[in-house]
Amino acid sequence: MDTRITQRGYGIKSFLSELRVKLAETASQMIESRLEADVTMWLHRPACQRRSQVSRQSLARCQRCGSRRARDFMGNGWRKRECLSIYGLLRFRMPRVICSCGGSVSIPFTILRRHQRIWDDVTEQIGRWADCGLSLRQMQTAIGEQMSAQVGLRTLNRNVQAVRIAPALELTSCPPVVMVDAIWVTLLEDTGKTQKDSRHRQRPVKARRKVCVLVALGLYPQSQRWGILGWQLAEDESRTAWESFLSLAKHSSPRILVQWASPSIQTAPPKADTGRL
Ligand SMILES: [Zn+2]
Repeated sequence: MDTRITQRGYGIKSFLSELRVKLAETASQMIESRLEADVTMWLHRPACQRRSQVSRQSLARCQRCGSRRARDFMGNGWRKRECLSIYGLLRFRMPRVICSCGGSVSIPFTILRRHQRIWDDVTEQIGRWADCGLSLRQMQTAIGEQMSAQVGLRTLNRNVQAVRIAPALELTSCPPVVMVDAIWVTLLEDTGKTQKDSRHRQRPVKARRKVCVLVALGLYPQSQRWGILGWQLAEDESRTAWESFLSLAKHSSPRILVQWASPSIQTAPPKADTGRL
């Protein structure tokens, strides 16, 4: 009996893994077709047509001589590229275009940016995980399990920081106890400058910036459940920052609002009692 269950589980796992491989292959093929279509559009001709027959200007530009004449541009093979998608790691060929002067032509592809290694669907998923309060390590584990790929914590952090829009905190169903707290974290930000390291490589110079994460935690004492209701990045723990954060929950009224060692909170949502730990 146990053996039969194990076999069935293995069968499903192998089928799903085969399905993921097929999906990744199909996605890679569709990406290659779209990239080729982009090249045809920017060069104003299909690959089989002679370039001398084209008289139009292209919006793409040679990076060496600055030419925009489509007749100067031609295909120059492909470059292997990898990009992480929710279907897994996609491997495809990226078309290269050069100018008659030998310079490379940068094509503004419609579905892929320059040096992009994480596709937009994964970035959106990382944003959703960040809204749900997942830690970077939890995201790393989820990506490993779902997409069979490894992403560094630094890369994940950069993607999370890109989602700087404060979550829309609308507490329609408010827990009886809401606890608010501030956590200070240090962010590394690009200064736009570079400097040589000990091995003479140009490295970007980062500056440290301390920011404050204002967090609201909802508690249900009877069921002993709890969860993060929302969070917001702020410059400090000032009264203005707390009022801005708490105003997002203005339609809700917890019975008790607990503030955790944050003396700057002077206001609370209407009808709420306040307490301190
Ligand atoms: Zn050129």
